[in-house]
Amino acid sequence: MKKTFVIGSGFGGLAIACRLKAMGHDVTVLEKLDNLGGRARTLYHNEFEYDAGPTVITAPYLLNEIFNLFNKDSRDYFNLLRVDPYYRFIFSDQSHFDYGSSLKSMLRQIETNYSKDDSLGYLSLLRHSKRIFNTAYLQLADYPFENIQSMFPYIPELMRIKFYKSVHSSVKTYLKNDNLVKALSMHPLLVGGNPYTTTSIYLLIQYLEWKWGVYYGEGGTRSIVNGFERLFKEEGIEYKTNCEVLNIHHKNHHIKTIETTKGDFDADIVVSNADPSFVYENILKIKPKKIFNKKSILKHSMGLFVFYFSTKKIYNDVQHHTIIFNKRHKGLLDDIFDNKVYINDPSLYLHRPLATDKKNIQNDCDSFYVLAPVANNQSDINWSDKGNEFCQHVISILSDTVLPDLKSHIVDQFFVTPDYFETELNSYNGSGFGIQPIFRQSAYFRYSNKSQELDNLYFVGAGSHPGAGVPGVLSSAKVTEKLILKYDA
Ligand SMILES: Cc1cc2nc3c(=O)[nH]c(=O)nc-3n(C[C@H](O)[C@H](O)[C@H](O)COP(=O)(O)OP(=O)(O)OC[C@H]3O[C@@H](n4cnc5c(N)ncnc54)[C@H](O)[C@@H]3O)c2cc1C
Repeated sequence: MKKTFVIGSGFGGLAIACRLKAMGHDVTVLEKLDNLGGRARTLYHNEFEYDAGPTVITAPYLLNEIFNLFNKDSRDYFNLLRVDPYYRFIFSDQSHFDYGSSLKSMLRQIETNYSKDDSLGYLSLLRHSKRIFNTAYLQLADYPFENIQSMFPYIPELMRIKFYKSVHSSVKTYLKNDNLVKALSMHPLLVGGNPYTTTSIYLLIQYLEWKWGVYYGEGGTRSIVNGFERLFKEEGIEYKTNCEVLNIHHKNHHIKTIETTKGDFDADIVVSNADPSFVYENILKIKPKKIFNKKSILKHSMGLFVFYFSTKKIYNDVQHHTIIFNKRHKGLLDDIFDNKVYINDPSLYLHRPLATDKKNIQNDCDSFYVLAPVANNQSDINWSDKGNEFCQHVISILSDTVLPDLKSHIVDQFFVTPDYFETELNSYNGSGFGIQPIFRQSAYFRYSNKSQELDNLYFVGAGSHPGAGVPGVLSSAKVTEKLILKYDA
């Protein structure tokens, strides 16, 4: 029986632990923090519980597949609720647009609020995103790109789908209205990319949302993580929390021992779910062999400022997922991704679970989080100084748009900044999502799911192929499983 250690318990780590257990490995998950889930963990504050990260659950079959490995059904562990609409977009001219979940009503809305041309344009955009989805998701999301040649057969189709264009410029070829273009090119932001530079391959997310819908875990995303924890206990997958991996001892390109805050462990196989940029520099202390993974050329995603709060007022009219666009768009994204400066006019994503999950009201209050993309820690922003000030900007934008008089209704609050991502989650540069989803960091160009330096080291999660987002990291577990089957079964 192979003794396998998984470093980190993000969704990628949880998924590979199950997959390897089902293959017959003796699996132990080592998690630095005090609970499972990584970015998807629960944050406890006073008498409230908050989902720390993912709230938009798509491609739910990927979760069920894992429970099926043990002849179990995920519905016996957690329940997924359909979210409708998928998102409400609010623009700086105060107009709004509801996206999903009925195509018919959305087309009618586009025709009424914008134009017939844009409604037809949207259908063409959806057809285009379906074509991308058919190749990039159905064929490549769980394909192990082991060398550059493995990408060659796909180049003609990638050329046909114009992978070299950005998501924003592709959407602009189909739609005229600026607000619509902003809204329908926002998906890269959900996986750490700038819509103006992310390869249009990521348009596949649009079709993926339509194909399987958008869901939320009843009782919170934590219900899904808790479901995995129960499965671990039932199937004998060991896990240790408060157990940080400090060092990986290797000789002749082979790992022998992992050194942790809870002692040393001998390993046959190690799968790292921790951010590869962090792992190479701080745990392995070696430079990645692959030129595309050199520190000097890698681009990490933006940082995130996340404000968690509860209010005694119930804001019944607020949808589950609201995206509030600031007037500045390209300039704002340039400041965040390239200039890496402090901004005071963020665009926001607001999560209000009570809109979907009506039974799970906490302490008779409405609970939220609001997320603002900000520069990652390559900036010189001192968040200990700026955090409170930034939070006030966020509160005032929310008060002026969807949550009137917010300040006077708040009963619980705290925020995290890129410093949390850097120091707690070991995310390089405090980035919210790991490395960016640009073409030269995709497929073979991303961190390899099988290390090129150590023969019994693998990677899973947002840094490896295919990338960030819950469907991305669950797919990465499938890639890593295939590679372990091939090399280390
Ligand atoms: C605020 C936010 C909102 C998001 N919203 C969505 C959404 O709605 N939908 C969606 O699909 N995606 C969303 N995402 C993205 C998604 O959450 C992530 O891409 C995904 O969960 C990352 O999973 P992962 O497997 O890469 O591991 P991570 O979640 O990054 O977990 C890695 C784990 O490794 C642990 N670790 C690191 N170093 C060590 C060490 N040395 N020893 C032991 N353990 C270590 C960390 O503590 C962490 O638990 C969101 C992300 C954030 C931050």
